[in-house]
Amino acid sequence: MKRILPVLLFAALYFNAFSQNKKPVSVFPPGLASIKETDLHKDIFELGGDSFRGRRSGTVDELRAAAWVAQKAQEAGLKPAGDDGTYFQFLNLRRNRLGDNGTFSINGKNLLLWKDVYEPTPSETHLDGPVTWLRSLADTVIDLKGKIVAIKMEAPKPLPFAASKLWNFRYISLAVRQMGTAMRNHGAAAIIIVADSIAMDALDRAAGHNYKDGQYLLEGVSRPANTLRLMPVIVVNTVYAADLQAPNATVRANMPVITYLYPIVNVIAKASGTDPVLKNEFVLFSGHHDHDGVWRPIKGDSTYNGADDNASVTVAMLAIGRAWVSHPGKRSALFVWHGAEERGLLGSRYYAVHPTVKKEAIVAVLNADMIGRNSIDSAALLGSILPHRNSTALVNMAMQANKMLTHFVVDTTWDNAKHPEGWYFRSDHLPYAQAGIPALMYSSLLHDDYHTVLDNPDRIDIGKLFKMTEWMYATGWLVSQSAQRVGVDIAGNKQ
Ligand SMILES: [Zn+2]
Repeated sequence: MKRILPVLLFAALYFNAFSQNKKPVSVFPPGLASIKETDLHKDIFELGGDSFRGRRSGTVDELRAAAWVAQKAQEAGLKPAGDDGTYFQFLNLRRNRLGDNGTFSINGKNLLLWKDVYEPTPSETHLDGPVTWLRSLADTVIDLKGKIVAIKMEAPKPLPFAASKLWNFRYISLAVRQMGTAMRNHGAAAIIIVADSIAMDALDRAAGHNYKDGQYLLEGVSRPANTLRLMPVIVVNTVYAADLQAPNATVRANMPVITYLYPIVNVIAKASGTDPVLKNEFVLFSGHHDHDGVWRPIKGDSTYNGADDNASVTVAMLAIGRAWVSHPGKRSALFVWHGAEERGLLGSRYYAVHPTVKKEAIVAVLNADMIGRNSIDSAALLGSILPHRNSTALVNMAMQANKMLTHFVVDTTWDNAKHPEGWYFRSDHLPYAQAGIPALMYSSLLHDDYHTVLDNPDRIDIGKLFKMTEWMYATGWLVSQSAQRVGVDIAGNKQ
């Protein structure tokens, strides 16, 4: 009997705290007090500020951001867990892009590269000859083999999802791909596509920036390493339609591709666990430190700061690191700030194949992308419903943590396989899930400032960021303390 009273008292305190929606700091989880809004605020204004110039991969700005993250991780008390006892895992990306000295002319009239003429996929382009004008893609009664074909852009079929935030970008990407494939199948030497008004808008907004920047290829992991010999697919400004249709129209082009290696870097740190056996296993917290760089000015601002995307998660992981150092869990915590997410999940695709701890030792991946915007009462958890869910045990822990601590209304609509944005496939948890590791993604979802110059720190809801940080931390804590390791659902994986 003597032992029952304290237990009852403890339980009463515990549930009382939750029922009143207070944080039972001393009860669960123990490092909560180390997560501070003031730290989140200070860090996100530093990393999400103009001085990092948008942290674009393939520039020194991403490397500077990575160095900032490593230094902050060290200050938080986290230990290096990258290559050779450092905080870093460097890898080289194969960069292919058009040289700045390329030339392109129609009927002897020179077009300006990246203003009048674009090449979406860098390809060695050397053309000199007559133009065969096609009235439509269906107009293939003429033998196109070896011809320089010109045609007006045709809308892709089907059209992109109407509400997509990147609709124009998807429109031009799909149209270029479909038209290029059709002409390649007819054996054309090159295709020149006259942009329509939607494509012109996409080129102006972001597509042109990406085309100019060229390719970022992860050699040996995915994508063919050499696309330089592909049939050239060229997009020209709408105003050149008449020139290309003129009798005896000719095109001359010399657009060489330059190819080189450039480093990106994952930043990796850890906090060791306390259990002599379980400390050899890791809860992996995941985010990305890169964003979109400097590009087209809007109202005088040309820096895409990505404060929400994804400085928010970068600084949340530092806060979780401080909490973990103050109160280590049984299992160890691993923090991976990936590079080059915006260029195609490149850092995470590499790390999932070349982890700096044993792959089998990674118990779960808690990834997050954009956690500082929208209603403070709701949030999304991707990978929580079928067919994306790969660990019911992990989802249950995330839901338990939310129920006990953060009380978000959990939005699963974006996790639906039929959701047209395909959000589940667009962040760094994906390569881990594909490698059979239990994985989730936290997000406060899209907003109008997504991938614009307005994604700035002053638009972050620090209270929301704080709650999302707590949710990730609390889930990780449950994963760390659980006697049984969270498992992968075999059935869920197969679907
Ligand atoms: Zn992101």
